[in-house]
Amino acid sequence: MSRPLLFAANWKMHLGPGEARTFLDRFLAIDTPRHGRTVMFFPPAVSLEATAERLRGHEHDLVGVQDVYWEAKGAFTGATSVALARGAGASAALVGHSERRHVFGETDTETNRKVRAVLDGGLQAMLCVGEQLAERERGETEATVTRQLRTGLANVTAGADLVIAYEPVWAIGTGRTATPSDAVVVHTAIRMVLVDLGFARDTRVLYGGSVNVGNVAQLVAEPEVDGVLVGGASLDPDGWARICAVGP
Ligand code: PEP
Repeated sequence: MSRPLLFAANWKMHLGPGEARTFLDRFLAIDTPRHGRTVMFFPPAVSLEATAERLRGHEHDLVGVQDVYWEAKGAFTGATSVALARGAGASAALVGHSERRHVFGETDTETNRKVRAVLDGGLQAMLCVGEQLAERERGETEATVTRQLRTGLANVTAGADLVIAYEPVWAIGTGRTATPSDAVVVHTAIRMVLVDLGFARDTRVLYGGSVNVGNVAQLVAEPEVDGVLVGGASLDPDGWARICAVGP
């Protein structure tokens, strides 16, 4: 089944509001929207509003928040609720990015609370899963990803507005990319779990991990790869526009 491609830019802790506007001015000047393609930007929370404002009227260019906290409001210094993100223009949220898991110690159970809060709050959830190098070397890739999916999606209804991003941790920001055939093996396993959990066949599964202008075409040529989640290479508007230009 062919699903429309999704190109997602994770700006991590880069690009304040002014820099985000400058980036988007350049990106929008050179990007040629393609039929059915969606581009999504995950700026830092302080740049959500500037990003959403600059993209207003570009219906296939969307904005998401990099992380949320599951509580609706209260004394949670530094946290962003789903409602605050939505009010600032987000229509999606990343959940369980490997840096949240491995730098900030987020557990599978916490990702599940976040996924449910995101969906309950009316945003699309982009749940990130992926194995660490040691897990891969022990042959535990599928088991790790399956556990992250089954726990992360517990008590989530099958019709939920969900995207999965497979991001092997050893490939993030390292310059090492899974080969397209490595990615296909894991994407196929992810698809089987999603089907088993009752999720629709049109749920997209993206690949992330050192994607760049040189390797993106090969990755998205695989029918099991429904787009990409890109960190470092999404910070240059010219390169990002070239990445978003690939596809059928
Ligand atoms: C990411 O941050 O999700 C990511 C995949 O980063 P990079 O493209 O830099 O590896």
